[in-house]
Amino acid sequence: MMAEPIIQVQKLKKAFGSHEVLTDINFDVNPGEVVSIIGRSGSGKSTLLRNINLLEEPTGGDILFHGKSILAQNFDLPHYRAAVGMVFQQFNLFSNLTVLDNVVTPQTTVLKRDAAQAKTHALELLNQVGMDPFVNAKPDQLSGGQKQRVAIARAVAMDPEVLLFDEPTSALDPEMVDDVLNAMKNLATTGLTMIVVTHEMAFARDVSDRVVFMNEGVIAEIGTPEQIFDHPQQTATQEFLKRYL
Ligand code: ADP
Ligand code: MG
Repeated sequence: MMAEPIIQVQKLKKAFGSHEVLTDINFDVNPGEVVSIIGRSGSGKSTLLRNINLLEEPTGGDILFHGKSILAQNFDLPHYRAAVGMVFQQFNLFSNLTVLDNVVTPQTTVLKRDAAQAKTHALELLNQVGMDPFVNAKPDQLSGGQKQRVAIARAVAMDPEVLLFDEPTSALDPEMVDDVLNAMKNLATTGLTMIVVTHEMAFARDVSDRVVFMNEGVIAEIGTPEQIFDHPQQTATQEFLKRYL
């Protein structure tokens, strides 16, 4: 039997006033899957992520989480918000807290975890992303790539079922990008379900189970990395990839 998808996006639409930014978006995300979303700037990638985590309200269609509409009156939103984490292009760390406390505090305040348990968990995750030597540093002492790895550890510390990434390496100097991508690659091997908006085509090809190509507010093409990168069917996909491959 096929596992039930964690997330099902169905006929999703999003308009800002009369400007329709997402038109009829349909795709499923299965447990443990890594789905990369690629496409030009302005094609609606961030808006799609922001609808999935309800930073924006869809104007049409539906999004199901374990088969239940996240837009339904009786849907457990607090549970959903805890289950779906997000890593942003701009890291959004707490600048007054140390690296360790950035990862500990959300666990103790939001999840009500006891301090010792939260600290153990934080140290484990900071170690995984190679940031354990910096536990006592403040964010402004870190490079962009280091900050982003702390932000990833902080998001993972909340034990999300799904983690969304919106261009997590786009604000970084080129020499920092690989450390962050490696941290994400390691995460992918832990079985975490991930939806990653990225311009890193090598990452999308190597780490994703499926790739979504967005163009002008629709999914122009979706498939395995091999289908999308080696045998793209749509002209728009081919033209987009010419710029990257
Ligand atoms: P991408 O992430 O692919 O670059 P976005 O989702 O950020 O694309 O944007 C898609 C389109 O939606 C753009 O034309 C953008 O100007 C528009 N848009 C995004 N957010 C808003 C908003 N809050 N209000 C009005 N227009 C928006
Ligand atoms: Mg964007």
